[in-house]
Amino acid sequence: MLQPTHPSPFLQRIDELIQDQLVPLTQAIDQEGLYPREFLHTLGTLGGYGAFLPSEEGGQESLATQWAVIKQVATECGSTSFLVWCQSTCAWYLHHSPNRAARERYLPQVASGKLLAGTGMSNTVKHLAGIEKIHLRAQRDGDGYTIRGSLPWVSNVGEDHLAIVAASVEDGGYIMFAVPPKTAGFQLRPCLEFTGLEGTRTLGLRFDSVHISDEDVLAQPDEFADYVRRFTPGFVIGQTGMGLGIVEASLRVMRESNASTAHVNVFLDDQEEDLAKELQQLEAQAVALAEAALTDFSPILPVLKLRAAVSELTLKAANSAILHAGAKGYLRIHPAQRRLREAVFVAIVTPALKHLRKEIARLEAVADSEHSRTTETA
Ligand SMILES: Cc1cc2nc3c(=O)[nH]c(=O)nc-3n(C[C@H](O)[C@H](O)[C@H](O)COP(=O)(O)OP(=O)(O)OC[C@H]3O[C@@H](n4cnc5c(N)ncnc54)[C@H](O)[C@@H]3O)c2cc1C
Repeated sequence: MLQPTHPSPFLQRIDELIQDQLVPLTQAIDQEGLYPREFLHTLGTLGGYGAFLPSEEGGQESLATQWAVIKQVATECGSTSFLVWCQSTCAWYLHHSPNRAARERYLPQVASGKLLAGTGMSNTVKHLAGIEKIHLRAQRDGDGYTIRGSLPWVSNVGEDHLAIVAASVEDGGYIMFAVPPKTAGFQLRPCLEFTGLEGTRTLGLRFDSVHISDEDVLAQPDEFADYVRRFTPGFVIGQTGMGLGIVEASLRVMRESNASTAHVNVFLDDQEEDLAKELQQLEAQAVALAEAALTDFSPILPVLKLRAAVSELTLKAANSAILHAGAKGYLRIHPAQRRLREAVFVAIVTPALKHLRKEIARLEAVADSEHSRTTETA
């Protein structure tokens, strides 16, 4: 099992890359919307997107190690950490796909960072949770499907990127598929400016009668439910790395600020030692759940509870960090205000905190009614 206090040589190499190539860019990423393309490619050459893969495919068979990479990037830049999550999650989808040909065609390229990839699954995940209508429709057409519709916000996309999305099928069920670069009828649209995460290449996707052949379908309607069940725990756990890296960075701001103003910071609600304890507990849970998510059956409720707790802690820590830093932290060049905007993103990206609470309440109600039924019949 991963020992976060003793980083492996693999994580040390990644840390060196972060310090050399990412740290000098964090201001430009946040303030000018710079997309850190070179960093993303280089991270791929170090194995930063496929640590969960078996060793014969260049991985380390550890989703906890993949989680640690996402977290390590987030301690310097939450925005880039989201890109690392997008890329590694696309590799994770491909790893689980029952379509062997698609897996063999795309997985090595995505896991090595040669082909950058975005995941446009928010709408489908929210649709499956009963929150919104599905935006993409698929109609059977010869050797594949015709796709119509649009998605408002998908990150890590571009002219030479892969996009992985899902659609509802006219005859029933859903498909999940990869959209190769330069597919006819597939358009990228700019969206309104965000207050953060502008360096994530977040664009609208429009499908104007796009033909997707069965070769690019990662899961057909009869495979879809099982496929989603298998990849969802890992999908959600990866995002907790993003949040906990931001918490760690917020604790750093508090320590720095306490060097000069501890005498007054002590009156604030959330103190560094308490937040550090909570961080440690959630980290231990994330590592354990990440290892479990590599198995075929991993229960989802503890994963959703962890993800919700991470959102709450990230908001609390980033908020306390800026209160500790005071007016300095309100300066455009100070990390405290950037961390606050990144923390809000952790709580609004799908599954958002409100979505998680809805899903947790539903699953707990199902468990309660099953428990009452078994006690009545006993
Ligand atoms: C910076 C950023 C990056 C993102 N990256 C991705 C990504 O890589 N992949 C992905 O799948 N999702 C991505 N999203 C979407 C995100 O995961 C959520 O689905 C989204 O923020 C909506 O969630 P919500 O809880 O606010 O939606 P709700 O409040 O439940 O509903 C809002 C819904 O209304 C619609 N809507 C509202 N305002 C607008 C608008 N101005 N333009 C278009 N539609 C609108 C959208 O369909 C949205 O889902 C990103 C969002 C942001 C802010």
